[in-house]
Amino acid sequence: MRGVCDFVELDESVFDFVKSIALKNASQHNGRTNVNVVLSHLMSTKLDLKISVDKLLPIIKEVVQEVNNLSIERQGVLIQEFSKYYKEEKSFEKGVSLQELANAEQGKVITRFPPEPNGYPHIGHAKAAIIDEEYARMYNGKMILRFDDTNPLNEKIEYYQAIRDGLEWLGIKPDLVKNTSDDILVLHNYGKRLVSEGHAYICTCTSDIIHKNRAEQIECDCRRNQNEANDRLHRMFDGQYSQNEAIIRFKGDMQSLNTVLRDPTLFRIIDHPHPLLGSKVRVWPTYDLAAPIEDSMDGVTHALRTKEYELRNELYYSILSRLKMRSPILIEFSRLEFDGMPVSKRKIKPLLEGGIISSWDDPRLPTLIALHHRGFVPEAIRKFILGLGITLAETKPPFETLESINRKMIDPISLKLFFVSSPVELRVEGGKFGKIELRNHPTQDLGNREVEIANKFYIASPDAEDLQIGQKVRLMELYNIKILEIRYENNKKVLIGSYEGDRVIQNIKKIQWVAENDAVEFSVKVPKELFIGDIYNPNSLELKTGYAESFVSKLKAGTLVQFMRFGFCSILNGKSATYTHR
Ligand code: ATP
Ligand code: MG
Repeated sequence: MRGVCDFVELDESVFDFVKSIALKNASQHNGRTNVNVVLSHLMSTKLDLKISVDKLLPIIKEVVQEVNNLSIERQGVLIQEFSKYYKEEKSFEKGVSLQELANAEQGKVITRFPPEPNGYPHIGHAKAAIIDEEYARMYNGKMILRFDDTNPLNEKIEYYQAIRDGLEWLGIKPDLVKNTSDDILVLHNYGKRLVSEGHAYICTCTSDIIHKNRAEQIECDCRRNQNEANDRLHRMFDGQYSQNEAIIRFKGDMQSLNTVLRDPTLFRIIDHPHPLLGSKVRVWPTYDLAAPIEDSMDGVTHALRTKEYELRNELYYSILSRLKMRSPILIEFSRLEFDGMPVSKRKIKPLLEGGIISSWDDPRLPTLIALHHRGFVPEAIRKFILGLGITLAETKPPFETLESINRKMIDPISLKLFFVSSPVELRVEGGKFGKIELRNHPTQDLGNREVEIANKFYIASPDAEDLQIGQKVRLMELYNIKILEIRYENNKKVLIGSYEGDRVIQNIKKIQWVAENDAVEFSVKVPKELFIGDIYNPNSLELKTGYAESFVSKLKAGTLVQFMRFGFCSILNGKSATYTHR
């Protein structure tokens, strides 16, 4: 039925496209949509509709009316029918957006996520791990979780577990879990082979000399003197050198413009117990040696890593070619970073050690444990990451993008409750007394709660500041009042109001409240940017205190709530919560 306007010269697909947007929006808003929302969605799509807004408007009006008249069930059926249009939406809505991998065969792709257990995993690791996993699934292949644990100075058992927990929370199930240190003897053997075949040498120069020679592109005597190689090799592995006395270096190319190739370190001696192997092993491979060999041995077909390793690619391929080992394809993607938030263990650790933050789950951090405790859900993180796609372009998306994805996901499962910060007393004359029942969610079945009300309430101080004598305001879910008087008792502001009926009045302010006899002291930790530019922000963790409904004391830690007109929060205990986002 298209009575309102003439579609004769319009492409049929315009009408359908408008309808797809209206349906989608209605499905997110209890079966109702409206003209403005549909128009703004249309304007934000990249599609060239070749039609002006004034021609579009009557179409939108008609479609909105039609959609609003349908039952929710019927809307659901139509959404299925219009599914092809949703593929055209922005990448964040679209979800999976990974491009094909080069030389990938179904059933044969093997990827790996190789974290070093030297800290808690963060959202950057989520990016790497999710991409590895998605590709493995896309090609019916396998994904390996490999702990790259070859620097005992930095690694701890606690961190292996934290990484496992983080991945489990994200819903990532590796097909194989292993440690690089499991293969330490194999790696030693490859190192020995490189030396005995003349591709590597034991260097006993001081680190200053090594540094200088690298800069000046000079080959040292250790490199030239092949006669001593075997003797030195024995000494290296027999414990006859002390730490810092000798390293094994790759015979790269001291003349190369790529400084990475100027005889990089393959093994060094570290006298520090390893979390899994204890003090049995002293000679530890570097990442440059271990990564290519492990990837090759593990059958990895596509090794994805962040862009900063790009200059090391030549070395990676070169080591494998000297060892005549199969080489995976290296693929780079950009590091995920945020303004004001350190997405790197290297940056987070000094903050912990310096006492600036006290734990890995501090809500100002983008670690997975912090995001979890703060109220983010793993589905939102996955959607966010996949929306970014795998690109080499610097990814510094606004953190708000993740927040808005999360908000949409937790909105239907968050209990809608009241919290008033910096409370101000409100007394109402003529209002009802006794028990009332409030719904925990306007549209979802999240149960009800009972609140005993009398004539005393608390409201939030920003609201109290705003209200004028004579103004009408609605106490949300309760009734309307009129402000009669604003007075001070013992230097405290008190508002006096009169009951003005139950019926919702259009266009008056609605404010949250807590009944005096139902109020419990409550505080919310609100994380802000940890850094402004490069400078630590001393106000990065704000504590908002006030009263919440006593119902909060019944909630388990981790329950997600939306304190109306305040924000989404994750309950810590009966007295406090962490702010998730607006
Ligand atoms: P950090 O600076 O946090 O120590 P890292 O790169 O040293 O980072 P690893 O544990 O060695 O951390 O990294 C494991 C994998 O995660 C690597 O493939 C690395 O490229 C990837 N990765 C680490 N940080 C990020 C990030 N911010 N964005 C995307 N991928 C990342
Ligand atoms: Mg690292």
